[in-house]
Amino acid sequence: MTMTLDDWTALADRLTLDGRALIDGRRRDAADGRHFEKRSPRDDRPLPPVARCGAADVEAAVRSARAAFDDGRWRRQSPAQRKAVLQAWSQQVLQAADELALTESLDMGKPVARALAADVSLTARTLAWYGEAVDKLYDEIAPTADDALALVTREPMGVIAAIVPWNYPLMMAAWKLAPALAAGNSVVLKPSERSPFSALRLAELALAAGLPPGVLNVLPGYGHEAGEALALHHDVDGLAFTGSTRIGKRMFEYAGQSNLKRVYTELGGKSAVLVFDDADVEAAATAVAGSLFYNQGESCNAPTRALVHQRVADRFTEALVAQALRHSPADPLDPGAGMGALVDAAHAEGVLRAITQASAEGARCLTGGQRVRADLGACYVAPTLFDQVDNRMAVAREEIFGPVGTVIRFGSEAEAIAIANDSPYGLQAGVWTSDVHRAHRVARALRAGTVHVNQYNDDDITVPFGGYKQSGNGRDKSLHAFDKYTELKTTWLRINAA
Ligand code: NAD
Repeated sequence: MTMTLDDWTALADRLTLDGRALIDGRRRDAADGRHFEKRSPRDDRPLPPVARCGAADVEAAVRSARAAFDDGRWRRQSPAQRKAVLQAWSQQVLQAADELALTESLDMGKPVARALAADVSLTARTLAWYGEAVDKLYDEIAPTADDALALVTREPMGVIAAIVPWNYPLMMAAWKLAPALAAGNSVVLKPSERSPFSALRLAELALAAGLPPGVLNVLPGYGHEAGEALALHHDVDGLAFTGSTRIGKRMFEYAGQSNLKRVYTELGGKSAVLVFDDADVEAAATAVAGSLFYNQGESCNAPTRALVHQRVADRFTEALVAQALRHSPADPLDPGAGMGALVDAAHAEGVLRAITQASAEGARCLTGGQRVRADLGACYVAPTLFDQVDNRMAVAREEIFGPVGTVIRFGSEAEAIAIANDSPYGLQAGVWTSDVHRAHRVARALRAGTVHVNQYNDDDITVPFGGYKQSGNGRDKSLHAFDKYTELKTTWLRINAA
């Protein structure tokens, strides 16, 4: 049944959200009873209180995760048993799809129809995919002489801390949880204080699917409190972080100050799309706008720099502006909404400040640039595009994390590659051309974890996701994600010759 705005609104009125922590299989308030309030960016209405976890809660959660790991209640289950739990969990997510999509939408403002079609279904797929994978992974036997047998095996790392952002709360959690748990680890997850509700519900569904208590604990709270205490904890073996580059750098410091826990980071981006003069320019503009304004522009891989050959730049820009107008913000519960609300008013302010600065630096605003839909609330910003951008301007260098794109003109392939790579980030890039040689040549030259050719949005759990340079280290998704949650062990046996 296709839900209408009225259906979603009625469901929202009935929805009960629970912001308490989940420790050792039970919902709990923070040990000191503290909580914080947050409001829905949709309409500024208050949401239920959220536990403000601190050091004592981190201690309890890590202790619980460690006990679960040490007694083997999860890691000693066979791969086939762990697979069955992950598959059942995936089914639980699908059964709760409407509730989870709505939670996501009310908590951080994304259109509920997108949350349902993408965030929830991809979360379910991620859980099932890693469940499916785990009983098909073989270890290695090294090539030795006759008198030895050398086994190279993967073992779960132990207690994993996962610290995730607010822009795709379910998916970012699932990208960490699925491979970490499939591999047999215990996990303590800290969702963002800006979007804590869906991760808590996701963990409840894991319990319902048969994940033993203690194996997955969820601590809502602030980064400088729960997050920092978790990242500094001496009994955490691995730290998987997704968030900003600024905070990501701190994770390595925390590891250095404590127990040298393994640190893997998925960080910011300022992705460039290169549009050559032999490209399908209208298709490129449609794809760039679609990905740039998807999720209100709150995507790490958003193509925020369109590098366009000067011969086609005017055509591209015109098509891009026309596309931008199709992405106007609307009530996130409206199934037709292309964009919803930014995560909160403070973030919207930051986006507007970056827009003002871009104009002050000399970039020309082609469309947008202001708040819209004041009838709904303070978190709606129009899709915004800047032309006459120089790659040295802040608007081309700093991650804005809102619906703001730039057009930078170039004259040659070499110049385009140089501009694209002139960034502290290296998450994703795109190339639009009808010349297959150029496509490969440029894709090889771009310093980015993913290069899209003649599309921007195609993706699957089967391929790695992550960045070069200050966009992070290690990879989420695909079988490569297991590298972050396992240690390699060599077992060398001497065999006496007969
Ligand atoms: P953020 O860095 O502010 O916060 C991320 C998480 O870290 C949150 O849970 C936060 O509470 C926690 N945190 C903050 N300070 C901390 C501290 N001192 N110690 C421990 N934890 C702390 O990022 P955000 O604003 O939530 O998310 C947006 C950022 O995430 C953007 O930069 C975006 O590019 C990035 N991102 C990257 C990817 C990727 O895969 N590369 C995916 C999604 C988002």
